Amino acid sequence: MGEIRKDPIHNRWVIIADERKKRPHAFYRELEEVSDKRKCPFCEGKEKKTPPEIDSFRVRGKPDEPGWRIRVVPNKYPALNPEGFNPEGLNPKGKIRKIFDGLSYRYHGYGRHEVIIETPHHKKNLFNMDKEEISLIFSMYRKRYLYLKKDKNLKYILIFKNYGNIAGASLPHSHSQVIGLPLIPPEIEEELMAIKDSIKCPFCNSIQRARDEERILERNKDFTVLAPYAPIAPYELVVYPLEHKPCFEEINDSEMDSLSEIIRDTFRRFNKLLENPPFNYFLHTSPTTPTAKIYKNYHWHIVIMPKLGLSAGFEMGSGIYINPVDPRKAVKELKEAKEYKEEVDE
Ligand SMILES: [Zn+2]
Ligand SMILES: [Zn+2]
Repeated sequence: MGEIRKDPIHNRWVIIADERKKRPHAFYRELEEVSDKRKCPFCEGKEKKTPPEIDSFRVRGKPDEPGWRIRVVPNKYPALNPEGFNPEGLNPKGKIRKIFDGLSYRYHGYGRHEVIIETPHHKKNLFNMDKEEISLIFSMYRKRYLYLKKDKNLKYILIFKNYGNIAGASLPHSHSQVIGLPLIPPEIEEELMAIKDSIKCPFCNSIQRARDEERILERNKDFTVLAPYAPIAPYELVVYPLEHKPCFEEINDSEMDSLSEIIRDTFRRFNKLLENPPFNYFLHTSPTTPTAKIYKNYHWHIVIMPKLGLSAGFEMGSGIYINPVDPRKAVKELKEAKEYKEEVDE
């Protein structure tokens, strides 16, 4: 079983997953093979090629049979897993604890790692899905989130998506991932600190500022999508609920419809302007144990980052990013990229 280690100097954590099965060469070979649709383990009819499913939305059939619209399976190569509790890593109440070893902190590699297969079709993706298909994906995010939240040893649940090889997706078939962590990650801690340090919600402030500075791409009755003040990637966007709300998982069905609409339109613009770019997105919501009052002041959001270049030595060595596209210009270009193909060939 792996470990989650705190860097002794920097505020960052590293999961030492040490999966013997996952030899780098075998991994790359697998990558090449599955670009061939016939070998794709995520296509309908290939259910036996994944670990047994743990959740699904289906129109017919039993688990691990065709007839599904969304399918959830454990990650075949999990970064963290729920087995192998080590007594050393537990406190007297049986909860996961942080261990100090004289140099730094660590946790045992406890957690969850799930894959959400977003569609039975190999060629479908966010650039060509309709609103209803996107709504199913986000409804499954909500369902998995509510389920995993019951595990009191998970302090944070991160839902994210990699699309395209250079964005880190090992399979071309559209999918997202969910990782449940026994700690609150530094990115979220940083945001909670920013909330603590300001009188008004810094996210609500950012929305207002984007309005003043013409960085709003779109808004509907419940959501807005904007380019942030200091985006680290070209054409980076953030989706915010207009109303100040801490938890994504409390989204209702009418808001879900508005969210799916704004996601669909955003990705169609990306497609029109940047032609199916590789991208990452992640969903930031309040930690799972909203005991502290500060968690209630969180403002959930989704960050979308097209991957148009690889970050290099300067970014890694300095923590400073270079973005060649001014966010106002990015919004202007995306606004103009309006017309899109409504239908797509299967
Ligand atoms: Zn496929
Ligand atoms: Zn807010």
